[in-house]
Parts: sequence; C-alpha cells; structure tokens
Amino acid sequence: MAGLQGSTIPPVDEIDLRSDTVTRPSPGMRAAMAAAEVGDDQFGEDPTVNRLQERVAELLGKEAALWVPTGTMANQVALRVFTRPGDDVIVCRESHAMWHETGAAAANAGVQFTEVGSGGVFTAADFLAARKPRGHLLYPPTTLVEVEDTHNRAGGVVFPPADAAAICSAAREQGTASYLDGARLFNAAIAGARRPADLAAPFDLVSIALSKGLGAPGGSVLAGSLDHIEAAIRYRRMSGGAMRQVGIFAAAGLYALDHNIGRLVEDHANARVIADRVAESARAILDPVTVRTNILVFRLTDDGPDAATVVARARERGVLVFAFGPRTVRAVTHLDVSKEACVRAASLLLEAIEASA
Ligand SMILES: *Cc1c(COP(=O)(O)O)cnc(C)c1O
Repeated sequence: MAGLQGSTIPPVDEIDLRSDTVTRPSPGMRAAMAAAEVGDDQFGEDPTVNRLQERVAELLGKEAALWVPTGTMANQVALRVFTRPGDDVIVCRESHAMWHETGAAAANAGVQFTEVGSGGVFTAADFLAARKPRGHLLYPPTTLVEVEDTHNRAGGVVFPPADAAAICSAAREQGTASYLDGARLFNAAIAGARRPADLAAPFDLVSIALSKGLGAPGGSVLAGSLDHIEAAIRYRRMSGGAMRQVGIFAAAGLYALDHNIGRLVEDHANARVIADRVAESARAILDPVTVRTNILVFRLTDDGPDAATVVARARERGVLVFAFGPRTVRAVTHLDVSKEACVRAASLLLEAIEASA
C-alpha cells in the first residue's frame, strides 16, 4: 500500500537508489548516538551539538556554525537572514530551493526566484545580467544569489570553483549576499579534489547536510560569520527548528564526519558503473563522463518507455529509482549499496529501459 508520501517501504533485498537519504545509521553510528552527552541546545548547553558546530565551522573555514534539523530549513533560514519579502533571489535553473521545497521560499521569506544558467551551473555574467539593483522604481532588488553544489536535478554536477568565486565577488561588489546550498558539498570536494573550506570560502553563508551521503539520520549545518549565525538562531526558532537534547543527532553527525567522507569516492565510482551501463541503451540520453559524483540523471528518448514505466519495471526487478520528470529518471548511490549491488542494479536498470513491454 502506498504511504502518505506516495511510496512503499522497500523489502531489504531491494537495491534502493532513489536517494542517498535512505541510508540507515550503522551500528557504529548508533553506538555514538547512544553514548552522546547531551544538554538543552536552546540554552547552548548541548556539548555534542557545540562540538559538531565547532567542527563544521572549522571544516568550512567559517567563524561559527548552527545545527538545523533539515537542509530545507537551512535554505529557509538563509533566505530569512539575507532577504526581505518581495526581494529577488538568483538561483541556478532547477535548483532545490525552487523545485523541492514545496514553495517554502515564497511562503516563508516571501521572495521571488530568478533562475539562470543550465546544467547545474551559471556564470558571473549570467548573475550580472539577471541581477536587479536596489532602489529601482520597478525592479525587485536582488539581495541574494544562491549556488547549489553539487547540483541535484542536473545530476550531481560539481559547480566550477572559479565561477563560484567570480559570482560571489561580483555579488559582493553589488551589495548582494551569497549562499551555498552545499547539501552535497563533500561530494563536490571529493570529486574535485578540493578542501571543503576552499569551496565554501567565497560565500557569506554555507550549508551542508549530514543526512545525505554522510549517512546520518538527520541534520544539516549552516556556517558563516558570527553575525549571520546569530541571526540564523532566531530564524531557526521562528521556523520551529530549535530543539533540545539534539546531541543525539549531533553525535551521528560527528561520527559521519569521522567515517563517511573519504568513502564517498566509492559512491562516485558506483554511479559511474551504473551510468556506463545505462548509456549502452540508445533510449537513454546520458554522457557517463559528466557523472562525477553519486547522482546520475538520464533522459529517455521519445521512442522508448517513459520515466514512470522505467521506474515500475525497475521496481519489478528489485531496483528502486526515482522519476524526476515525465522522461527523466534519477539514480543515487550511497553507503548502503555495495559495488556488487550497483553492478547488478546497472544491468537490471538497463533491462528496464530496453524491455519491449
Ligand atoms: C536534500 C537537499 C536539500 C534539503 O534537505 P532536506 O534535509 O531533505 O530538507 C537542500 N538542498 C539540496 C541540494 C538537497 O539535495
């Protein structure tokens, strides 16, 4: 039976490539959670949360950091920190903030988005062409520019660091703030052989997710200047996201940072294995060379099955993938799927695309 969110709970022997959020905490992570020292985080008294926040601030080269329950809340809080209702926010085409947050930005921050670029990336010139000045008689002021790295809907695309730096410096010159939705920043760092702090450096505020490739059961962290994090504390509370003995989650986050960053290379290699196989089909549009992280998004040609059909056929074969659009399918590798499982899933997925009925 379909659940409220339209999915069914997969039997454990299915290969679940719907998302890197489906991972379950490992025994080691659960042990760390059980042993966590905790306190009331709203009083700043949870030592494990404090340790996690200091650790992420250091890792991202920022003054301060703040744990939030979800990446969506991180994005919402970021909008509140930098914008006023009616402002314009420049984002990349098909960004998470615009497509995957159920209209939250319009409902909570009251901002409008302008989409620029394509394929998960845009340039400083794209930003400057779309940016609207403050004080104009007609235009909504562009007070924030947001980059998503890696870019989810574009297929886990790594944002070129030189473009990020150019966008942020153009933004600073124009008095526009910059925010990095780095839910999968560690994937970008590993794929591009960059330090996370270097990727975060150009931005005023940055978020990372602990609950995606890093395998924690929940939590994202915002990092930036003390002033911005102080503002974020208020908006987190306003969003209903200020919690209490949340060190149990923070312990999972610390465990994830200790154990699950380096191994992301395995997820990237596994995604390539699947991409190479899918690309064998003339019905799939996908250049495996573009698959650098743990996400592959492929399009289905008009003469083959549509995305819903491929998803259903893959499920019959024990592989779960996600329909991103009428003819677009996403598969995501993660720490709960082995190389062997991905090799098997690749063949089954190819079968699902190639099957005649
Ligand atoms: C998953 C994701 C988010 C939101 O995270 P949730 O924890 O699911 O709310 C934000 N941005 C990007 C790019 C994501 O992939």
